[in-house]
Amino acid sequence: MSKGNIGVTTENIFPVIKKFLYSDHDIFLREIVSNACDATQKLRTFAQRGEMKEDMGDITIHVSINKDAGTLTVSDRGIGMTEEEIENYINQIAFSSANDFLDKYKEDANAIIGHFGLGFYSSFMVSKKVEIITKSWKEGSKAVKWSCDGSPEYTIEEADKKERGTDIIMYIDDECKEFLEENKIQELLTKYCHFLPINIAFGKKKEWKDGKQVETDEDNIINNTNPLWTKKPADLKDEDYKNFYRELYPMSNEPLFWIHLNVDYPFNLTGVLYFPKVRNQLELQKNKIQLYCNQVFVTDSVEGIVPDFLTLLHGVIDSPDIPLNVSRSYLQSDSNVKKISTYITKKVSDRLQSIFKQDRKEFEEKWDDIKIFIHYGMLSQQDYYDKAKSYALLKDTEGKYFTYDEYRDLIKTEQTDKDGNVIYLYAQNKEAQYTYIKAAQDKGYNVLLMDGELDAAMLGMLEEKQEKTRFVRVDSDTVNRLIQKEDNQSQDNNNGGILADLFQTQLPKIDKTEFHVEPQAMGAESAPITITQSEYMRRMKEMAKLQPGMSFYGEMPDMMNIVVNTDHPLIKKILEEGESATAESLKPIEMELKGLDARKQVIEQEQQGKKWEEISQESKDNLEQTRKDIDAEKNKRTAILADYAKDNNTIHQLIDLALLQNGLLKGEALNNFIQRSISIIK
Ligand code: ADP
Repeated sequence: MSKGNIGVTTENIFPVIKKFLYSDHDIFLREIVSNACDATQKLRTFAQRGEMKEDMGDITIHVSINKDAGTLTVSDRGIGMTEEEIENYINQIAFSSANDFLDKYKEDANAIIGHFGLGFYSSFMVSKKVEIITKSWKEGSKAVKWSCDGSPEYTIEEADKKERGTDIIMYIDDECKEFLEENKIQELLTKYCHFLPINIAFGKKKEWKDGKQVETDEDNIINNTNPLWTKKPADLKDEDYKNFYRELYPMSNEPLFWIHLNVDYPFNLTGVLYFPKVRNQLELQKNKIQLYCNQVFVTDSVEGIVPDFLTLLHGVIDSPDIPLNVSRSYLQSDSNVKKISTYITKKVSDRLQSIFKQDRKEFEEKWDDIKIFIHYGMLSQQDYYDKAKSYALLKDTEGKYFTYDEYRDLIKTEQTDKDGNVIYLYAQNKEAQYTYIKAAQDKGYNVLLMDGELDAAMLGMLEEKQEKTRFVRVDSDTVNRLIQKEDNQSQDNNNGGILADLFQTQLPKIDKTEFHVEPQAMGAESAPITITQSEYMRRMKEMAKLQPGMSFYGEMPDMMNIVVNTDHPLIKKILEEGESATAESLKPIEMELKGLDARKQVIEQEQQGKKWEEISQESKDNLEQTRKDIDAEKNKRTAILADYAKDNNTIHQLIDLALLQNGLLKGEALNNFIQRSISIIK
């Protein structure tokens, strides 16, 4: 038996390994098993080249737990190591400037391990002692046993091992007993070794017998050595892709589309990406894509490698050319990674484009499910917007789909305003905004349905990207004014008389909502009352919700316009009856107001053209008083009208119906409405 010191310049690397790699303990198993895989694949290469004469035999790698001994063992039948090779590959760790490096990459266990080829040493993260018992494939080799208890000292001695290959025996630390649990090891193997290229057995297959699980003689192989992404796309059928998807995500719906990635120049990359079908937004998750390096699982955090919007996809990417052993920020500046990201975006876009071209019907059927990905991409990446704008779709409230160009052609004749803007009308809720949609359609307009999570942002983007484009929600104004054309400018809106007061005084108080009554001649056929909300204010409020810095808009009340249609017979009746019922009591007030108005005008004229300091105090006080008097008279008038209107069921009924139509009638007001309606039926 001989002794020696492991060739590290740092005093003792094991405390370092344990300390810094603490968060990522799990990966030790990946390191040990993938070493076993490498050793086996090397042997296979020798065998193929005819350098190894004898039969390879069963090359399955075995992972086993011995609870009594407290060991976890990984055994392979690969090339093994001679004593000299142990000296070269295990004992001499190139470990210069370790401290510097550790300082830099504390956070990232992958970085440290990969960078230093510490794969094997990661076993010390969980072990108090590790033994290697190995016999080289080379003829006449002697088996050796290397042993190290976590100090820089190791022992090496002859061993009794008949078979070629290597056993790594890990004496699991007392604090890490979970790695002696079958479930834990099964979980790790499934996560990290699921697609390794050599069979890996963990225990025996179990089957149900007489209500109990019993072990069979068959090895429990935990991996698929030949995963789909390593095969040629030409050899694969749709069913194969779906089956593979099920293997990756057993609980998910069938995917919508998939894209097989396969490049070998200027970088090496294979993989399959799937567009998932999510049942709801909650299911939309980043980091479902698994990143592999030669079939060894590396991470499921692909940020920085895949463009942000594509991290919502599912699937697998395998590339030996992604520098995995560096920090994330370095990744983004790596030229290979940039190329990879560009390549993936292009592939995804090409695939969507080709489905759109070849099978528009299928594309439209899946649009509602895929639009979230496409919109996210268009919003977050300029180059993707440019690619996607030819196949991104708009959907109208009738369920018809259009490309951006098709839609503009469709509406530009009817929906261009006097300034040459093409007005895109849209609804966010087909049911709630039904009346407005219908009114717009009756006028010959088309209405889009923009009910997706990202639609509000999308329409903002389209307004920016497409010249002379404005989006206007159908309920942001009365139908005649949605699209301002020359011919609807000459509307007389000041013919309401007492109407504004009659209605304004009877509107219910709704928290954070303000109403403004506006009489307008809209034609006898239009509704007596329409509630509208300015596009600008609504959008500001919507944006404020998403952006913390804009709370000013967020706290503002919703401003609702109550448009009272002075052409409607019911409104005409209310006006006539109201006027005659209140004429008597309003007369003195009107007289008074006339007088006050005249006085105000005189004073104002007197003051006109003068500077503030040139006006006498008396004149200033006079004007102030006159204004106050006017307000007081107006208040009197409003009080009289309010008193009249409070018993006018028609006014209340019309207001409530309009509120109801907009989902604004609730609580006591709704109850009152129902009671009133019932009494009307009686
Ligand atoms: P890396 O795998 O990155 O080279 P490791 O520390 O994991 O670094 O392993 C160091 C070397 O030890 C390997 O390159 C290989 O030559 C040898 N080795 C490790 N495990 C085995 C094994 N199971 N069979 C044969 N050789 C092995």
